[in-house]
Formats: sequence, structure tokens, C-alpha cells
Amino acid sequence: MNERDSEIMGQLLAAANYIPTGDIKQADVIVINTCSIREKAEQKVYSLLGRLKNLKKNKPSLIISVAGCVAQQEAERLQARMPQVDIVLGPQQIYKLPELVAKAGKRGKLQLAVDQSPNFAIPRYSPPSPAVINKKGDDIEAGQFFKKFVTIMQGCNNFCTYCVVPYTRGRETSRSPEDVIAEISHHARHGVKEVTLLGQNVNSYGVSSKGRLKYVPFPELLKQVSAIDGIKRVRFTTSHPKDLSPELIKCFAAIEKLCPHFHLPVQSGSNRILKKMNRKYTIEQYLEKADALLQMRPDIALTTDIIVGFPGEKDEDFEATLKLLEKIRFHGAFSFKYSDRPQAKSVGFDNKIDEHIKAERLRILQERQNDISLLRNKEYEGSVQLVMVEGKSKSGDGQYSGRTMSNIIVNFEAPALTPGQEVFVKITEGLLHSLRGIVA
Ligand code: SF4
Repeated sequence: MNERDSEIMGQLLAAANYIPTGDIKQADVIVINTCSIREKAEQKVYSLLGRLKNLKKNKPSLIISVAGCVAQQEAERLQARMPQVDIVLGPQQIYKLPELVAKAGKRGKLQLAVDQSPNFAIPRYSPPSPAVINKKGDDIEAGQFFKKFVTIMQGCNNFCTYCVVPYTRGRETSRSPEDVIAEISHHARHGVKEVTLLGQNVNSYGVSSKGRLKYVPFPELLKQVSAIDGIKRVRFTTSHPKDLSPELIKCFAAIEKLCPHFHLPVQSGSNRILKKMNRKYTIEQYLEKADALLQMRPDIALTTDIIVGFPGEKDEDFEATLKLLEKIRFHGAFSFKYSDRPQAKSVGFDNKIDEHIKAERLRILQERQNDISLLRNKEYEGSVQLVMVEGKSKSGDGQYSGRTMSNIIVNFEAPALTPGQEVFVKITEGLLHSLRGIVA
């Protein structure tokens, strides 16, 4: 989501005649797009701002902007303690960036835009004009990338007790299907082959603030997106398990372009902890849905998010999470130690877990998951996978790198290929984070 927001801000600044630079000393405007999901990410923002102070001293015209969730949450602190910051804008306000940059340049005083509206609407998609693209000499919007993230909704209504998203990004707001389709059709006409539909909880796409269906439901949107000429792969993230409907599960059999990968955050294997997290499902319900997905699409790769050391998590709760790993055998899991986030309800919970215990639980969990992920990847050995080429492999050995439909990275040798091209690759080896293969 943040990556897409950064891209949008880049496009808005390009339309205002700003050109990206790889040399920070050359920059006239610096935008730090922030995330406050983890404490570490927030700390990084302050440390980066500290480093930028000197840069601003040497170049007073430099405009420093902090955007995203940290900006939303920490507006007052930033205002009081970081005089080098010129613009603070929350996630709902990123569309105002060019206007605020212009004002900051003229007036030289802090531009603050962190208002939230329950009726917030994502502005309609408008492709950049060819003039902007040509002047820049580098088409940032079209042709250069073969895959795109497309925001279909913003915000969240779920209030998991550890999470700040409903406070920083506001309540759920969906874009109209017409606007989503217009944007993706534009991308497809310019060579994009894969889209990932983004939202905090895409499963509740289309529902109005009053809880009624305002637009088409998510499965219908998936069908419409998949019907766009030129789009070969459709992905989405993220899904709340409680809102995963039978209709969405059926899409995995009915829509050929829908990639067999499902990121379904479970967070804990213990019902007691899930209740304290306000996740609104039980582990039995989660298992039932995971099973239904596998029945519908046996080659689906399931991945998840897990938090260890939530306040009050006992050894038996942690054991239940480990058992869940063994039961589902996720292809991958993003796992984190619980940390208090300002504004989250769990900040006030008793029985916080000692840092050492959290670290040890995380180590055990990651070790167990690594074993499972490796075995999962070994299951691909000998199979032939349709791989979409992403470019040359990062290892610098001249190999190509691409992704299977199930979102696993494959490195392979091949004659000249272009990003976005699809090739059949025979998998020769499954590794922990990737596969190796040869063109079939
Ligand atoms: S579903 Fe829960 S964890 Fe996900 S964004 Fe909403 S409140 Fe946060």
C-alpha cells in the first residue's frame, strides 16, 4: 500500500515538473513516506530526519516532506521537534502534495495536512499527459513497468487491538469499479501484464460506510479486471479471514488469470489470543477457509502474518501457533514481535511479554517456518512452471529472475528475455526463498 502511495506521489510531482534524482544532494524536494506498523520503521524516520537536518542547513530552499502513517500520528511531535520538516501529510492527503510543495516554497512555513474524513474518496484516476511524459524524457507511467499495484480501497473498519491503521488511514472507502477498470485498462494499453489490487481488507471492497453494498462485490471486481485485454495475471492483498467469502474462494477455480497465491494473515494460532486481538474469527474457522481454498485450487500457495508475544501470550498459546504452522504448512510467513503502537488499544493491556521471551519465540517460529518453506519449495522440483520474467537475477550471474503464478521467485538461465514475458521453466531445485530452473 505504501509502495503504491509513494508511486502516486512520484507521479504527482512528475506532473508538477519535478524529476527524480538518485543523488540526495541534488534534490529540491524530499518526501519520506512512512509506515508505523512496526516500531522500528518509525524510529528510522526520526533518524533519517536527523541526517537531513544538515542537508537543509546547507540548502535552505530544500523542501522536506513527511507523508503516511507516522506523519498522521506524530504530526504534533514533528511540528514541535523537527523544524527541518516543511510538509506533514497523512495518508488521505497525499494527493495534495504538489499544492503543498508550492505553498511551502513560497511561504516557508510548515504545511500541515492530516485531516481525515469518513467520506474520503480516492481521486479519480487521470493518466499523465504525453507532454509531461515527454518533457521528463522517462515515461514513469507507461511501458517501463510490466506490473502495477492498483489501490482499490483505503482504510479499515476492523480495529484489531494491536493495529493503528483505522486511526491513521481512516475508515474503509472503496474506489468505483469504473475508476479501477479505467486505470488498469490504461496500464494494459501501455504494456502492463500483471496487476495487484490493493487494500487493507479487499474482501470487503464495495461496502459503503453504512455497511451496505455500494459497488460490485470483490469477486465481481476480480472478474471485470481479469476480462481486460492484455492483463495476464491478477493478484490481490490483503484479506481479512473473517470476510473471506465462498464466492471469493470459487474465483480461484473460475478465473484463469487469478494467481494461485493467497496471503491470509492469521496472527496467532490461539483462540484466546485471537479474541484479545479482536480478530473476529476462531482458528477452526480459519482452518475451514484455508481448507476450502486448497480444495478449490490445490496448487494455491498460502502465506500469512504472525505476531508473537502479544500481551498475555502464554507458552500454550505460542505452542498453538507452532501447531498451526505444521497443520497448514504455509509457503511463507511474515513474523514479528509484538510492539506497542501509539493509539493501539493493546497498549493498555496487562501482562506484556518480556523482550527476551518474545525474541526467543520469534526465533523458534522462524526456524520452524524456514524448514516448512524449504520443503514447500522442494515440492516444486521436477515440475514445469509458467514464469513471468522480472529481469536479470540480482546475483549478477547473468541468469534471469521471474515469478511463478504462485508468486515464488525462480532464477534460471535463458537466452535474451524481456520483463513481462512468460516462459515455461523446469524447476531443478527448491531453496529456502526461491527456486532454480531451466527453460523447459
Ligand atoms: S484488519 Fe486489523 S490488522 Fe488489518 S489493517 Fe485492519 S485493523 Fe489493521
